[in-house]
Amino acid sequence: MSVDGAARGLIMVVEDESAIADVIRLNLAKAGYGVHIERDGTSGLAAIRSLKPAAVILDIGLPGLDGIEVCRLLRSENDWTPVLFVTARDDEIDRIVGLELGADHYVTKPFSPRELVARVTSVLRRSQGSPDSPPNLLVGNVRLDPAERRVFVDQREVELTATEFDLLGYLMRRPGRVFSREQLISDVWGYSAAGSVRTVDVHIAQVRAKLGEASPIRTVRGVGYAVDNPVRRTSRASDGQQ
Ligand code: CA
Repeated sequence: MSVDGAARGLIMVVEDESAIADVIRLNLAKAGYGVHIERDGTSGLAAIRSLKPAAVILDIGLPGLDGIEVCRLLRSENDWTPVLFVTARDDEIDRIVGLELGADHYVTKPFSPRELVARVTSVLRRSQGSPDSPPNLLVGNVRLDPAERRVFVDQREVELTATEFDLLGYLMRRPGRVFSREQLISDVWGYSAAGSVRTVDVHIAQVRAKLGEASPIRTVRGVGYAVDNPVRRTSRASDGQQ
């Protein structure tokens, strides 16, 4: 809607409650940020794409696309603009944590304006350490770099096909959870096709063959597949080289 002066960078606020949006705007502007407000998820997403803000304050309960969907779409486009979620409910926090989108930041309503400004500042400071890139995922000797779509075992790069990469990345982002073949088909391949669940087995076998003993994928008999090992996250590839 309107953009104020932006000495410290532009912050996009996507919030449908005008009273809250106004309080946020006032406090961010006082702290030296430029502020742009959108009232629904669809307009918010479009404005983030066109204005490229330094950070986004994203309400979850929004008309149209909700805040989680907006963030998910940005990340799927490899847009890692820092996001600070604003949430009113515990179940929303679970969804944020489950996302693993590099946006583990949230404030709960009601929040103090001062807290919000402090969190925006810290989110921005953190993102400057690793500009516009998701963290690398490390399991044992396997390192997956989501931004460059590359996988390494120790220092050796392993060539995966696009689907193999997506499958491994999907499981590594969700350690400790077991996924059925149907779920993997629907989430990784993006469609529901009961007849082709064997496809999952074939691709898992290919990933395992390529990663060898380093493969973190476990078969859960009668259920599906999981990555159990703890997954570490790091913004620096060198952290994985030890
Ligand atoms: Ca709302």
